[in-house]
Amino acid sequence: LLLAVTGATVGLSSFKSGNKKANTEQRVEELLAKMTLEEKVGQLNFVVGDLFNTGPTVRTSESDIFNEAIRKGEITGIFNIHGAAYTGKLQKIAVEQSRLGIPLLIGADVIHGFKTVFPIPLGEAASWDLAAIEKGARVAAKESAASGISLTFAPMADVARDARWGRTAEGAGEDPYLVSLVTAARVKGFQGNDLSDPLTIAACVKHFVAYGAAEAGRDYNTVDISEYELRNTYLPPFKAALDAGSATLMTSFNELNGIPATANTKVMRDILRDEWGFKGVVISDWQNIQEMIAHGYAQDNAHAGELAIKAGTDMDMMAEIYLKELPRLVKSGKVEQKYLDDAVRRVLWLKFKLGLFDNPYLYSNTKTEKKQVRSKEHLQAAFEMAQRSIVLLKNEKNLLPLSTTKAKKIAVIGPLADNKEDMNGTWSFFGEAQHPVTFLEGIKKYAKGAEVTYAQGCELYSDSKAKFDEAVAAARKADVVIMAIGESAVMNGEGASRADITLPGVQMELVKAIHATGKPIIALVSSGRALELTWLDENVPAVLATWSLGSEAGNAAASVLFGEYNPSGKLPVSFPRAVGQLPLYYNHKHTGRPYEGNHSEPGSERVYKSRYRDVPNTALYPFGYGLSYTTFKYDNLKVDNNKLVPGGQLQVSVDVTNTGKHAGEEVIQLYTRDLVGSITRPVKELKKFQKLAFKPGERKTVTFTLTPEDLAFWRADLTYGTEPGDFKVFVGPNSRDVQETSFMLLKDSSM
Ligand code: BGC
Repeated sequence: LLLAVTGATVGLSSFKSGNKKANTEQRVEELLAKMTLEEKVGQLNFVVGDLFNTGPTVRTSESDIFNEAIRKGEITGIFNIHGAAYTGKLQKIAVEQSRLGIPLLIGADVIHGFKTVFPIPLGEAASWDLAAIEKGARVAAKESAASGISLTFAPMADVARDARWGRTAEGAGEDPYLVSLVTAARVKGFQGNDLSDPLTIAACVKHFVAYGAAEAGRDYNTVDISEYELRNTYLPPFKAALDAGSATLMTSFNELNGIPATANTKVMRDILRDEWGFKGVVISDWQNIQEMIAHGYAQDNAHAGELAIKAGTDMDMMAEIYLKELPRLVKSGKVEQKYLDDAVRRVLWLKFKLGLFDNPYLYSNTKTEKKQVRSKEHLQAAFEMAQRSIVLLKNEKNLLPLSTTKAKKIAVIGPLADNKEDMNGTWSFFGEAQHPVTFLEGIKKYAKGAEVTYAQGCELYSDSKAKFDEAVAAARKADVVIMAIGESAVMNGEGASRADITLPGVQMELVKAIHATGKPIIALVSSGRALELTWLDENVPAVLATWSLGSEAGNAAASVLFGEYNPSGKLPVSFPRAVGQLPLYYNHKHTGRPYEGNHSEPGSERVYKSRYRDVPNTALYPFGYGLSYTTFKYDNLKVDNNKLVPGGQLQVSVDVTNTGKHAGEEVIQLYTRDLVGSITRPVKELKKFQKLAFKPGERKTVTFTLTPEDLAFWRADLTYGTEPGDFKVFVGPNSRDVQETSFMLLKDSSM
């Protein structure tokens, strides 16, 4: 009797881990054959931990209802929970108390670090240091994996060309090539070489696709772009992530050319599955499936579920539509069984690959967790990454680096100066707010011998100027003022688009009040996007982009301010002069009426050129821009052959000399321009870069190899390849200040 009772609850036909000797495909089939329809749809239902069922009485995943759902096999996994002990407990319910004992998939938005918080992805991208970025993702993987997580919803591969879009913060900027490399580096960092390694996690490249092209930069807004634009600009980073092995992919919220991404068979079936051969799991974004009703594409939940599963969306995040609607849809024959089975196969495959069937507690190890989380080594990596992310935008009369013999009294002013919470930045809910080192703390540590005073000056958003006087008084007494200003963590990221991209609240007025004291200002500007910094650039002697730098923010910034580290970051996005220029990106097209002039004065004669009457076309700080405490000279740009043939290559070389007094690193950038194409081509495209270290006075000949593959694009007939003709090649320290030469590509080739 006892046996019978146990059998009924635990399930005598429990699968557990099946035949371990079989290969993954066979094990998947063995399990699939045992599953009921309900158990199958359960494997597609992905729910958030602390908001399960969202009802106010059922808020936490500790609840009985939640545990019951695990027992019944109604959920495949839970996301945004963590902790080895806790995840282990839930895993135990799944493995020991559900009929088939299928382990849970525990996911999380591990976006830029875990408990050790790294700079926001846009900041990391500014390092142009792929090895450091990969390492950052590896650290995040180690900490989160030890904490029970085996899947992250990262990296974000969306190209972002409009600074109003808040999610610019989560990606690697505006250039498809840089975004591709950074995205691939992050996938490798998260996943390592073996998904079943207990210190790696599966990646989920998101958001597929063209989410960054939202009209007017408003999050979730409509996207309507040509297939050329889709293929040449928005798809490459996803392809790069999948080539790097990303095990999963997330669909985007937006509609693309009239069809919501989640049911867009053109991108989801034709391109992703058929053309690219992606075999991994596709996860919808949060309630995406249901949102197709609001989009006006699905009639009701059942219709939405049918459209999504047929398009190849395997997992339903938070809509519970698959759970509730798919059984009926399959039984009635509206959705063929194969759609359901294929989706379940992929999910099971992932769980096998992660090693969860062989050891469900692989990722929930309290000992490893203790060792990994916020380890000294990880904090050091976050510190180095933060240093490398900082971009020096202006440094008049070499005000920086600061020497404490000259700057004996330093006033640190601004709403971000002693603000722990906002250092972590968007999507950092695992990083505790008490941890980050503030700018003030870092400066105090590094400004040995100097007197450091602090005044907040104003709040991040409020209109009150009540604290201005105290800040002005502090500035008056100081030799130099360091102002920490910019956006709070919630002013960028998801749902945080801005129509105005100046400093929020009265911060600009605070800067002006401090400026009026005549004291030199060093502005640390934190943000998750390009901001409009025109006034600062014209009036303040030193400006640095400090994004949201994470756990070690203050130490990293201070090490730069006091010259321990020479800044080497370069902007991954163009900083506009005015919001009205947006979208603004360096790799734009020509027009029939190009305008190269720098000034468009109000009231001046009308010029029938593509320009604004009131603002120049150019960026204030262009893509790829960033200064150093030293200076670099570029000369002798050469190509070793002025003709390139299919199968051939040519070398582009340039001499770079450190002409200043400091050792420093430089990102040497190579761009090309394809002069005539079957579709019009961008004015410049980044093709290669190298980040190299130079001692003072050191000169290096830097060589790049170009092949026809580097010049390929999606052509007028929607085939991929090159077209013969003249090319320009540019090399320089950013996308604007380049030297140029040229070569000719002979013959076209398809690839
Ligand atoms: C975001 C995703 C995220 C998901 C889960 C959504 O709102 O768009 O990027 O991974 O939530 O938290």
